[in-house]
Amino acid sequence: NGFSRKEIDFCRIVANSSFHALRNARLFEKVTKEKEYLREIALKDQLTSLYNHNFFYSRLEEEFERAVRYETPLSLIMLDIDNFKQVNDTYGHRVGDVVLREIAAMVKRGVRKTDIVARYGGEEFAVILPHTLLKGAVEEAERLREIVESHAYAGLVSNKITVSIGVAAYPQKGAMNSGDLVNYADDALYKAKWSGKNCVRVAET
Ligand code: GH3
Ligand code: MG
Ligand code: MG
Repeated sequence: NGFSRKEIDFCRIVANSSFHALRNARLFEKVTKEKEYLREIALKDQLTSLYNHNFFYSRLEEEFERAVRYETPLSLIMLDIDNFKQVNDTYGHRVGDVVLREIAAMVKRGVRKTDIVARYGGEEFAVILPHTLLKGAVEEAERLREIVESHAYAGLVSNKITVSIGVAAYPQKGAMNSGDLVNYADDALYKAKWSGKNCVRVAET
């Protein structure tokens, strides 16, 4: 008998609208999280959580256009694990997957925050280095090569894991678009393989 009918109705209205507001907020949060999750899986590689091939290309194109427009340098590192088939053949595909994940994490940790790391292919990785000259990119590549070489891999007994690396940079004669830059870095990577692997090579200028 403490509350009037009007007061009880008023409380009911407040309670009802609070309930709807809370429910909407919760729904909104859920949809936002799901959208983020979908975006993540569309852009990222499942095994390594690095950016995937598609994202790599669109981002490189963007960065290339920016480099041309603002006349800033842009470098690209391509990295391929040496004799990786042998790792799979000796230890099995699952251990191979663990090695891939470990290398992916090391590369991610080993570069600057502004660099973009992607899984380019099966056992190939790419790093986009905005605002970076060839010299700086080669230094970073050499650092990555050493990190991979000196790491102790879980599940491997004696095999040392190494990588071959190709580096290319804009501006460079003949590099008119992002595709050219990829080709130059790829050529450099082949040179590294031909030089006996576990080394860094630079595109011809
Ligand atoms: P090279 O030094 O010339 O690069 O030799 P390689 O053995 O690394 O190169 P090759 O191209 O002959 O073999 C690449 C291997 O990478 C074969 C393929 O099974 C393996 N690979 C690709 N993707 C994955 C993956 O997601 N997981 C595992 N475990 N292996 C993979
Ligand atoms: Mg390869
Ligand atoms: Mg390889």
